[in-house]
Amino acid sequence: MSDDDLERAAWFRRQARAVRSELRRIPATGKNADVSVDWVGKEERFLPAEQDWRKSALAAGGDAQASLWASAERVREEVFGKRIFVRGVIEVANFCRQNCSYCGMRRENGALRRFRLAREIVRRVINESLPPSVTDLNFQAGEDPVALKELVLPVIEEIAREKRLGISVCLGTVDHRLYDELRRAGARGYIIKLETGDPEQYRLLQCPGTLEKRLEAIQYLVRTGWCVSSGLILGLPNQTLNQVIATLDLLRSLSLSGCSVSPFIPGEGTPLSSEKAADLDQTLNAVAVLRLSSPRWIVPAVSAMNLCDSSGYVRALRAGANLATINLTPSEWRGDYQLYRRKRWIMTEERVLRAIEQAGCEPSPESWVAASSSFPSLASLLPASRSLP
Ligand code: SAM
Repeated sequence: MSDDDLERAAWFRRQARAVRSELRRIPATGKNADVSVDWVGKEERFLPAEQDWRKSALAAGGDAQASLWASAERVREEVFGKRIFVRGVIEVANFCRQNCSYCGMRRENGALRRFRLAREIVRRVINESLPPSVTDLNFQAGEDPVALKELVLPVIEEIAREKRLGISVCLGTVDHRLYDELRRAGARGYIIKLETGDPEQYRLLQCPGTLEKRLEAIQYLVRTGWCVSSGLILGLPNQTLNQVIATLDLLRSLSLSGCSVSPFIPGEGTPLSSEKAADLDQTLNAVAVLRLSSPRWIVPAVSAMNLCDSSGYVRALRAGANLATINLTPSEWRGDYQLYRRKRWIMTEERVLRAIEQAGCEPSPESWVAASSSFPSLASLLPASRSLP
């Protein structure tokens, strides 16, 4: 092992100690908390000896919840300081060949006006209305290989040449060849959520393809050098706590760079439209659990949290999230990019910057894909006053 490796190993051990001591401070979980760190090459893995702390953490309320969020916030600060990554998202197309029962863009939703943005419109957004705080661009769409090939690929080739931006995509499960082409064009981050890691629930909810294929896609992306962020939907109809824990375990086994938790929102025009929405507190507890069990993950605050409660976004940042997203989709098309409801809660630059400030944080000058793909740059995220052991 080189001196650098030893230095990093020591730093990760310190992180493990920090997480362990944070877990002991949480009233409902302290008794069970025991975390050991396993140093494997570039990866640190925090392995709770007692898995049960996550069950109590997910259900935490009152003082236990306040301690849980404060612990997650402290661990985020240990690893990333007060910096929150800021990305812009452009929702480029709402055609989708999938039929997920929770999603408003499912192919059987005939009430939706389908669109693919013209390349010129996307270029104009990037060249004329990119907020200065944005360090990363994310291209999101339904599962639509046409939009991928004819729109996203050529635009990414251009911006990778012309701009210093981290580029990520969220375009579904497609042929390996297309992942490779996107990477060659300059994309570095792939967002591909598991939604649920329970095979039966995955099948019943008609999530994209099969769980097996989704996992295979994630593994391929990781293997070929992408920074992969995955995630789960919390509060799905009939979801059990054991399903959530099993999903969290599966996510942690995947060498991810990041992970999100989205609260289930009953989507208009879907078979689940009359189901109950997720509980925001439990969703935020899950954000804190992600941070405590995988301190280095990029964990986004998601706009759906604000649909549950107008302070949801800020509270997510206070519960350990470290990525915020500014919506850059031109207003004419936003309503048709309908995951939940036509009436959306749009995170504008002003709202994102205010939320970051209210959470006592600041926008990061570094791109999340750059921070995730260059391992040693993590050290530069530490507060200046702190030296490696
Ligand atoms: N088609 C791509 C894919 O499969 O990865 C893009 C993702 S989809 C357009 C965006 C994400 O929204 C989904 O991965 C899912 O997690 C989330 N989503 C959709 N409907 C939802 C709902 N009703 N409640 C919560 N999250 C939802």
